Amino acid sequence: MARVGQLPSHADGLFQSAKIASESGMMTAMPKNSLANRRDDFPERVKLLLARRVNHRCSNPNCRRGTSGPHQSAEKSINVGFAAHITAAAPGGPRYDEALSNRDRCSAKNGIWLCGLCAKLIDSDALRFTVPFLHAWKHDAEAVARWEIEGGDKSHEAQREHLPIPPIYGISYHDARKLLIEAGWQPLATWWPHHLPDLNIQVGNGREFWGYGYNEIKSTCPTGFAFCRFEFRDAHRSRLAVVTAGEERAETKCQACVVSWFLDPAGSDLGAYLFAH
Ligand SMILES: [Zn+2]
Repeated sequence: MARVGQLPSHADGLFQSAKIASESGMMTAMPKNSLANRRDDFPERVKLLLARRVNHRCSNPNCRRGTSGPHQSAEKSINVGFAAHITAAAPGGPRYDEALSNRDRCSAKNGIWLCGLCAKLIDSDALRFTVPFLHAWKHDAEAVARWEIEGGDKSHEAQREHLPIPPIYGISYHDARKLLIEAGWQPLATWWPHHLPDLNIQVGNGREFWGYGYNEIKSTCPTGFAFCRFEFRDAHRSRLAVVTAGEERAETKCQACVVSWFLDPAGSDLGAYLFAH
C-alpha cells in the first residue's frame, strides 16, 4: 500500500518554485513559503483520494506510469505521484480560476493525479493543457480504474497485435485522421440506412464531422466538453477509438482536438463504458 499521505514535503514547493522560475526567467528557486499564505493546497486526504481513484497511476493516457512502489527498506514505500491542480492553487498560476472558492480550489474536483513529469508538463503549457483537456484525462483514467477493479480484463488487448499509433494527442482531428490513415489505420465507416445519420451524432459536432465525410464518427456527447468518438480498424482487426474535445466549426476556424485514444477490447465495450460512467 502506497503511503501517499506521506508525500515528500517538497512536493508542492517543487512546482511552485518551478513556476516562479519559469515566469520570471530565473532558474533559482524562490523560498517555497513566499506565497504559502495565498495557495490553496490539497489536504493530504485529498491527495490520497486522487491517487486511489486512478489506482495510483498517472492520469495522462499516454503515460499511465505507476506512481508508487517499494522502498529498499521493507518498512517504507516510495511515491513519485503528485496531486496536480486543474486550476491553479494561487493567482497567476496555470489555468487559475478566480471564480472558484478557496474550498473548491483545494477539493478533489480540482485535482488530477499525475506522475512528476506529467505534473510539470501540464503546468508548462496551459494553452495546450486546458481545463477541459485535463478533465477528459481524469474522466478516462477514473473510468479505466473502475473498469479494471470491476473485473475488466485487458490481457487480450495487450496480446493482440496492432499497428503503431502515431502521436495524435492534442492535434486537430483532421491532422490526427491523416496521420492514422498514413500509418495504416482505416476509418471504420458506419452505414446508416437511408443515409440518415444516427440520432447519436445529430448533436454537438456530429453534423459538422459528418459533413466532412468522416463517417467513422460513432457518437457525440453533449456534456459541454463536446466529446466525439471515432473508430478505426487495422490489418490485425484491432479497433482503435479516438476521442476529441472542443467545438468544430468551419466558419470560426474552431477545431476539436484529440484528448484520448484507446484500443477497444474485442468482445467487450470499454468505449461504451467510458462514456456511460
Ligand atoms: Zn505521467
